Amino acid sequence: MTMFQNLHRSMSGSHTLKFQCEACGHRAALTAAEARASCGPDATPMDIRRRARCKACGAEARARVWI
Ligand SMILES: [Zn+2]
Repeated sequence: MTMFQNLHRSMSGSHTLKFQCEACGHRAALTAAEARASCGPDATPMDIRRRARCKACGAEARARVWI
């Protein structure tokens, strides 16, 4: 698990941004391009966590986020 400052500085083409819901354990991943498109290049882990909503159980702002 790697902490990072923001997407632009930390993700290259082959990276994926991983999510795990703390409520139900559901996991998801985005490619670097998808993550930049949906969160913006300046998004920090805290920004992404705040905005994340679990597709499985609907919990908001409870995702663990890492690269
Ligand atoms: Zn969930």
